Amino acid sequence: MEINGNQEIKSNKQYHPQMHSAEHILNQTMVRMFNCGRSFSNHIEKKKSKCDYHFSRNLTEQEIKEIELKVNNVIQQDMMVKEEFYLKDEAETKFNLSKLPDDAGEKIRIIKIGDYDACPCSGQHVSHTIEIGTFKIISTDYRDNVLRVRFKLL
Ligand SMILES: [Zn+2]
Repeated sequence: MEINGNQEIKSNKQYHPQMHSAEHILNQTMVRMFNCGRSFSNHIEKKKSKCDYHFSRNLTEQEIKEIELKVNNVIQQDMMVKEEFYLKDEAETKFNLSKLPDDAGEKIRIIKIGDYDACPCSGQHVSHTIEIGTFKIISTDYRDNVLRVRFKLL
């Protein structure tokens, strides 16, 4: 299966590893379900987090339930989260590096969550998805072509 989506570059910020790992899975789930891009803006915190997507409408209750099911299914499969390093030239052929900073250097760090997701990232992650807990969407809203998804972990 082709792994799709943009990169997520995290720098100069301390992220909550469980929340941030959930964000990776949520992004890949959104890409697969709606063929949208990964979140272009997000705020990750221990208690609750939010991700913003370029979108054309709000989500239905049914879709929210389906996202929760898919994300929790990945978590429950206890996938390994691994970092791999690629030379930039090779990474460019395998991943979307369009948002990579110019000063990213020749070695690109790719975070892989089992065979579900892969994207460049410099943040901190759990080593097994089971550590994330249970993913729950608190609410969504839609405005000016931006879908905001708020979520927490139980
Ligand atoms: Zn990350």
